[in-house]
Amino acid sequence: MTVATIEKLGVVGGGQMGQGIAQVAAQAGLDVLLVDMTRALADSAVAKIGKTLGRLVEKGKLDAATRDAVVARIHAGDDHAALGDRDMIIEAAPENEALKLQMFASLGQHARPDAILASNTSSISITKLAAASGRPERVIGMHFMNPVPLMKLVEIVRGLPTSDATLATTLELAKRFGKTTIAARDIPGFIVNRMLIPLLNEACYGLYEGLGTAADIDTGVRLGLNHPMGPLELADLIGLDTCLAIANVLHSELGDDKYRPCPLLRQYVAAGWVGKKAGRGFYTYDGQGQRT
Ligand code: NAD
Repeated sequence: MTVATIEKLGVVGGGQMGQGIAQVAAQAGLDVLLVDMTRALADSAVAKIGKTLGRLVEKGKLDAATRDAVVARIHAGDDHAALGDRDMIIEAAPENEALKLQMFASLGQHARPDAILASNTSSISITKLAAASGRPERVIGMHFMNPVPLMKLVEIVRGLPTSDATLATTLELAKRFGKTTIAARDIPGFIVNRMLIPLLNEACYGLYEGLGTAADIDTGVRLGLNHPMGPLELADLIGLDTCLAIANVLHSELGDDKYRPCPLLRQYVAAGWVGKKAGRGFYTYDGQGQRT
């Protein structure tokens, strides 16, 4: 079986996950093209990666020359056609099935025929995305954790038609990024979010029912269960829109009411209070993302 070497990577979606994936890939020496809806969004994503790396330079964890070399390996774009020379493309657009299906159909048309298409989806069927792409054997789930540069795990999800060669190349890439992988079946939520989302949703119900304040619930889980973060602060970090989207997939696809999203979570998302990235969720944040 051939394990392809990935040198030119495309990343679609320059939000918190796409930025993290692009950063880790460029730090591993890959040439990265980061595509968002507009050139301005993509440019802003590349600038944010530069800032993140700049903070590492200030702390003495990275030298300025390395930062410059890493940033120089990341290019911005707004067009799937520009992804035509990529060996592999990782999609990190919002957790919306209709959007991702459309995207995989478009990427399937524009990417090189032998390029692998991976999705960073938290819950959506890789088999469905594979079918939409027109190259089902070269589609795979590569579920990074947030924040990507710090979190060791990548969950690898094989769709029904994913080939052994696609899996082998993807595992090799994750290893090059310095990540540990686990294999998860293509069942909604995979392994990590099947465990995590019910916990976060239950914390929302706890707040909704007045079980305690947000701070009490988080401190309870941090100190009582020895978790590094409380569930509500973690939900704020993930993005409440993303948490709700995943909960909706678990609820509708698995058909069990135990996954029913909490009405309070729906309300926060309706208000636009989607967490740290919006400056407000269960907690409030300043422009630097620090809790106020
Ligand atoms: P985000 O909201 O921070 O970023 C999404 C990005 O996609 C934005 O920059 C947006 O402009 C861009 N986008 C929207 N439509 C697009 C289009 N048509 N073409 C190109 N770009 C488009 O979201 P995120 O937290 O980075 O999540 C992205 C994906 O990663 C989702 O599938 C999510 O489930 C998954 N994920 C998220 C986390 C997390 O903790 N947030 C963890 C693991 C996986």
